[in-house]
Amino acid sequence: MKTALVCGAGGFIGSHLAKRLKGEGYWVRGIDLKYPEFAETAADDFVIGDLRDPRVCESVVDQPFDDIYQLAADMGGAGFVFTGENDADIMHNSGLINLNMVASSCTAGVKKIFYSSSACMYPEYNQTDPDNPKCSEDSAYPASPDSEYGWEKLFSERLYLAFARNHGLNVRIARFHNIFGPYGSWKDGREKAPAALCRKVAQASDGGEIEMWGDGLQTRSFLYIDECLESVRRLMESDFIGPVNIGSEEMVTINQLAEMIMDSAGKKLSIKHIPGPLGVRGRNSDNRLLKEKLGWSPSEPLREGLNKTYPWIHEMVEKDNPLSPCK
Ligand code: NAD
Repeated sequence: MKTALVCGAGGFIGSHLAKRLKGEGYWVRGIDLKYPEFAETAADDFVIGDLRDPRVCESVVDQPFDDIYQLAADMGGAGFVFTGENDADIMHNSGLINLNMVASSCTAGVKKIFYSSSACMYPEYNQTDPDNPKCSEDSAYPASPDSEYGWEKLFSERLYLAFARNHGLNVRIARFHNIFGPYGSWKDGREKAPAALCRKVAQASDGGEIEMWGDGLQTRSFLYIDECLESVRRLMESDFIGPVNIGSEEMVTINQLAEMIMDSAGKKLSIKHIPGPLGVRGRNSDNRLLKEKLGWSPSEPLREGLNKTYPWIHEMVEKDNPLSPCK
């Protein structure tokens, strides 16, 4: 039986990945600071532990796992990453996790380790035009991410690549672009735009108003969780090391994202634009390298993913406040 360790298995992507790996017949160990918040873990073994501590890393990597998925990070949406208030924690905590995990994986002789980088590592100067952002993998340098979160991701990409070069560690690296779906943060201050907008739409009465940070003309693309996991597994089974983008190429403005969510909810709402942390002006995944190396890339329309995500957040909002006006 193949074995996998999922670091960050209490989080959004990690909890879905543990389930997917179980479905593929793996024996799965998860590790996180916390259990998954919204559903039982699918992992066979779940360790509560802090990966900033090297002894914890050594103890969970107690065997030469077939696969390790390193998803643990101190992260969140714009309200967490772009205010500047969490910069030291983000760099220190995620940096330690990666420094420890790469060393423990090497010592234990793991067969393969996946590292989840982020599109936030791309330079800001290529993402000022909302209609023409450039995010091809080879545009990463000269480096100039717009957040410390992006700088830590870039550092850790290089860390995994250096261990591959000097110690023969078999690594895979992907740069995720805005992954969304049910069972993720939706109101704890770490939620990202799709979850935050689904929550606001669910909380509003039909004909009412929602608030949005910025003018809503900034662009992004959003990838549904199932297609993210499909891409990760295909990358792991391939010979390609990366870094490679894992995202959708369906670029929308944040205003368009909000309109699509209103359609999913069957509500008509007006948008009030207010100041808030924003990130780059435009960003879209460039999947040419992914297609070339894997012969496959995500294709599900954004609307379909939103139609699967909105009902879950609606349910969460109702459970949270049974007297809310949402219907
Ligand atoms: P998440 O916050 O839901 O999951 C991360 C998990 O890591 C959390 O459960 C957290 O408790 C855990 N963690 C943090 N510090 C830890 C520590 N010291 N020890 C053990 N566990 C710790 O985030 P996610 O959306 O599931 O993202 C997973 C990975 O993908 C992260 O590395 C993130 O940076 C990356 N990523 C995600 C997106 C996205 O859109 N979700 C985009 C780009 C990159």
